[in-house]
Amino acid sequence: MDVQPTSSGEDRLRTALEASGHRHTAQRAAIYRYLKSVTTHPTADEIFTQVREVLPDISLATVYKALEAFVEAGVARKLSVGGSPARYDGRTDDHDHVRCLKCGKVRDVVGEHDSELIRGLRSDDGFEIIDYRLELVGFCPDCRV
Ligand SMILES: [Zn+2]
Ligand SMILES: [Zn+2]
Repeated sequence: MDVQPTSSGEDRLRTALEASGHRHTAQRAAIYRYLKSVTTHPTADEIFTQVREVLPDISLATVYKALEAFVEAGVARKLSVGGSPARYDGRTDDHDHVRCLKCGKVRDVVGEHDSELIRGLRSDDGFEIIDYRLELVGFCPDCRV
C-alpha cells in the first residue's frame, strides 16, 4: 500500500493563511511552530522572547501581526482575560482552561464538562447567548501553599 506523505503543519499553516488573505512567511512559520510546541498558552511577549532565540531579527510587532493572522485564519485561539495580556493557544479544538489566580499561568484541563447544563443558563435581561467560554480558576503547583 502506498502511503502518501501527509501534509505537514507548515503546509496547513500556509493554506489557512492564504485562504484568509494573509501571507505565509518563514517568520510566521517559526512562530506557529513554537506555539504548537508548547502547552503554556504564552503571551505575545513570551513568544517573542522564545522565537528571537532562533530568529534574532524578528520584532515584537511582527509577532503580534502573525498572531492576529493566525487567529483570523483559525489556526490559533486568543484567550483574553480582563486586565491581563492576551494569551495564545495553538490548540483550536474545543477545550477548557484553568488559570492561576496568583501568577496568571493558563493550562488546559482534562475531562468534559456538561455543556447541556451551561446551555440551559439564561440572562434575565434579554441577552441572546450564542456561546460560552469556560475558565476554571485556582492556584498552580508553584503558587499553592
Ligand atoms: Zn501560579
Ligand atoms: Zn488551551
